[in-house]
Amino acid sequence: MSKGQGATLQETLMQKLDYDQLTNCMRCGFCLPACPTFKETGIEAESPRGRISLMKAAVDGLMEPGIRFEDQMNHCLGCRACEPACPADVKYGQLIEQARDAIEVHTTQHRWWVKGVRKLVFKELFPSQQRMQLLGTGLHFYKMSGIQKLVRKTGVVGLFSKHMATMEKILPDASGKGIVERLGTFIPAKGKKLGTVGMFRGCLMDVLFTETNISTVKLLTEAGFDVVIPESQNCCGALHAHSGETDQAKQMAKSNIRAFQEAGVDYIISNAGGCGAILVEYDHLLHDEEEWKEASTWFAKRVKDISSILVEKGRPLRFAETLSQQGPTRVTYQESCHLRNVMKGSQPTKQLLQRVSNTAYIEMKDSGSCCGSAGIYNMTQPEMANQILEHKMENVNATIASYVVTSNPGCLLQMKLGIDKHGQTGHMEAVHIADFLYDRLVKQD
Ligand code: SF4
Ligand code: SF4
Repeated sequence: MSKGQGATLQETLMQKLDYDQLTNCMRCGFCLPACPTFKETGIEAESPRGRISLMKAAVDGLMEPGIRFEDQMNHCLGCRACEPACPADVKYGQLIEQARDAIEVHTTQHRWWVKGVRKLVFKELFPSQQRMQLLGTGLHFYKMSGIQKLVRKTGVVGLFSKHMATMEKILPDASGKGIVERLGTFIPAKGKKLGTVGMFRGCLMDVLFTETNISTVKLLTEAGFDVVIPESQNCCGALHAHSGETDQAKQMAKSNIRAFQEAGVDYIISNAGGCGAILVEYDHLLHDEEEWKEASTWFAKRVKDISSILVEKGRPLRFAETLSQQGPTRVTYQESCHLRNVMKGSQPTKQLLQRVSNTAYIEMKDSGSCCGSAGIYNMTQPEMANQILEHKMENVNATIASYVVTSNPGCLLQMKLGIDKHGQTGHMEAVHIADFLYDRLVKQD
């Protein structure tokens, strides 16, 4: 029996899992066709219904949860495509987080070095933006100093892992200077001011995609918003919450709530679906802490994705009329699971893409189905992630689009990887929506 801190995994599951949610599942199976891991394997245990049944069986004492149980919980992408498909409104996302939280206490699978890496990443690196920037400086040096060229020439990374070598190829241009160092903490609206928004810069986002953060701020000012970037904000805590580090995720949530309340903003803007999905659920994350109820509700109600605020509240943007001899540029959209299934905000991105001059928007088949990125899933479960990506790329390639637009950095890297491995390299480019729009914007003086 799996033990940790005195109690068995079964006892901790009993303590952490919401039994009402477990019994809400009526086993209808409507969620099965929406689930990428079920679609890939056809195995019941790899489906939402199967995973809920396993959780319930463990809590009811009908089975003893062991390695196989942990595997099934870890194979879940956490994409939450099963939630909108569920007629009983089962909160699957909460159940899987509770199960992983319990497993984390009792895990039998983590070797000493995995535990060490987890501690370093979750407790030392992500919570500190200064350390993230040091990481960015290191990666920038790695690219610019010629070390990267040498590494690629010698193929040394491939000796450790083929997957790591492929990921290294799509490493973005990191920066040791985040958005605050580049633009300051207050950027005024262009023209008549419509409101004040707070920019959630993200931890990895600000290091690996600083230019996308800059595009986001500039789109907001063009649309009529003063932008405040509170310096004391930190990582959203999504990776922690999805990996069973709930206490750490709660600490980060509280720190972010304080930072944005002090800034007194009308809305809090995210340009990463994965971050936005936990920000919008801070009220749930802190639901058992009465003293945080009001503040977490205040925060969650104000969170908006960049596309949503531009469409719903901003001044209409004008796009350049650049004519091409080849006709309109074909553009498609790979939806972020968390933006679609949790924030319910995919439509505004599609609307914006249809407004850009001289582009033809091509709807991708199954654009809402996960690409296999899912936080760190493509690193922890590379085989399943690759299988999902390969099938996704069949739909991407069928669009014959020049641009695959995404709303989340993880999806962006996964699409770059997909184009590199299975796509039309040289004819197709993956790009974040903020960069795509800003590049084509008619800027005000
Ligand atoms: S979160 Fe995604 S992978 Fe997990 S059970 Fe639901 S649909 Fe399947
Ligand atoms: S759709 Fe909902 S109720 Fe039906 S099996 Fe899936 S989780 Fe259970």
